[in-house]
Amino acid sequence: MNSNEIDIHKELKKYFGFSQFKGLQEQVVKSIINRNNTFVIMPTGGGKSLCYQLPALIKEGTAIVVSPLIALMKNQVDAIRSLSSENGIAHVLNSSLTKTEIAQVKKDIVSGITKLLYVAPESLTKEEYIQFLKSVPLSFVAIDEAHCISEWGHDFRPEYRNLRTIIKQLGDIPVIGLTATATPKVQEDILKNLDMVNAKTFKASFNRPNLFYEVRTKTKNIESDIIRFIKQHKGKSGIIYCLSRKKVEEIAQVLQVNGISAVPYHAGLDAKTRAKHQDMFLMEDVDVVVATIAFGMGIDKPDVRFVIHHDIPKSLESYYQETGRAGRDGGEGHCLAYYSYKDVEKLEKFMAGKPVAEQEIGFALLQEVVAYAETSMSRRKFLLHYFGEEFDSETGEGADMDDNVRNPKKKVEAKDQVVKLLKIVRDTKHLYKSKEIIFTLIGKINATIKAHKTDAQSFFGSGADFDERYWMALIRQVLVDGYLSKDIETYGILKLTEKGADFIKNPASFMMSEDHDYNESEDEAIVT
Ligand code: ADP
Repeated sequence: MNSNEIDIHKELKKYFGFSQFKGLQEQVVKSIINRNNTFVIMPTGGGKSLCYQLPALIKEGTAIVVSPLIALMKNQVDAIRSLSSENGIAHVLNSSLTKTEIAQVKKDIVSGITKLLYVAPESLTKEEYIQFLKSVPLSFVAIDEAHCISEWGHDFRPEYRNLRTIIKQLGDIPVIGLTATATPKVQEDILKNLDMVNAKTFKASFNRPNLFYEVRTKTKNIESDIIRFIKQHKGKSGIIYCLSRKKVEEIAQVLQVNGISAVPYHAGLDAKTRAKHQDMFLMEDVDVVVATIAFGMGIDKPDVRFVIHHDIPKSLESYYQETGRAGRDGGEGHCLAYYSYKDVEKLEKFMAGKPVAEQEIGFALLQEVVAYAETSMSRRKFLLHYFGEEFDSETGEGADMDDNVRNPKKKVEAKDQVVKLLKIVRDTKHLYKSKEIIFTLIGKINATIKAHKTDAQSFFGSGADFDERYWMALIRQVLVDGYLSKDIETYGILKLTEKGADFIKNPASFMMSEDHDYNESEDEAIVT
């Protein structure tokens, strides 16, 4: 059976009631039906589930769906069951089932009723299940939240690393990886670890043109600032993310005292209270949820109008995911983040107890958040570049939707400085991260520079007429414009690209604006 022999539009209508595919869905569905290994990268809300659910419903055999969250699996199973009169069409297989329930699941699979079988990765390692699954016809294995396989993702789960070995035991079946995390490094990890380098890859744009991005200095007045912001969005739904449970409780209380209907949500609350607060938000009994990152997975409230980050997140992936909960209906979505370098230091301290490799990754990811917060260029362009996507900040969709673009800083010509910077990256032989490159430019010595005798080079200190902040801003801008690239594997070594080499040969005008220095703003009292 291939995709030419079936009317997938008819099947789409029959099962889901939709008359059209969304975005890349149709191509993905065809690729899966044609038994290709397939890799799907779509932002949250892009419609990933249908990409494998429809082929699973159409094809012979059972599709195995690996998913990390039992609660989400149950929702998915319920949703699929509602599409059919046959309850056994979808099942979850996990350790919480009774013997009788497991027997029923197996019976439904053997008799061909079950089209989708959801399993957690740890269940799939059970020898008993592997033996059983080997004995039944399988259509494909779909791996949801596939970024969990990568240490560079925001949610690494070691169990995901065993998946490929297990799948191989199940026979020669197509593998489908799906994720909403799209940094080039994570993508590469997924393809490598699932041994599907030849996969057909479908990547949707991560641009959310209706979201407005803004970063404000975090001062001691943050609470009144948030209250003012919410009052300007009166009656609208919003989420406020904080890093600690304590802060969640505090802010929720402050809001309540100020007449804003808000509830807290974090993993320290009992399940009943959590469910109640979530429902209150979904049913619009309250306007605002103040939450830790525990809140949001699987929440599909289309009209969230603002997402506030009281504290900066650990990575831009998390930031994108969390802000992505705003404006899902295509309407207004204001994403406001408060930033102070003190918070960065706090997060760094927090990571200090972790294994070294994990720390290095953590720091590298955090540095990207700092760069995003401090940059004065188009935030959308910056974010999309991080996800490996080019964005034209003049004509792209949503180009004017951020604070930097609306209130641009003065730009200055930096052609000569770009040439100087690029040459130094080249002439230091791609050894250094931003820090050492900047030190070389301004003539500052540290152990690494000494070790490589860079301080003896003629170009050492040749950029001392500008300060560190200037050079940092310039590096960020040339990175986003593709004159340099950052090697993530080495936690940030800078490399000259072909485009950069061309620039050295044929320099052109390069207008840059300095980064924001939030910590030097009028109000010195930064919240700690
Ligand atoms: P993701 O898993 O990528 O976050 P979902 O699979 O949850 O996204 O889909 C997001 C929403 O889009 C859901 O409400 C789903 O019903 C809807 N949806 C998916 N495909 C279509 C389609 N072809 N037409 C209309 N709505 C769709």
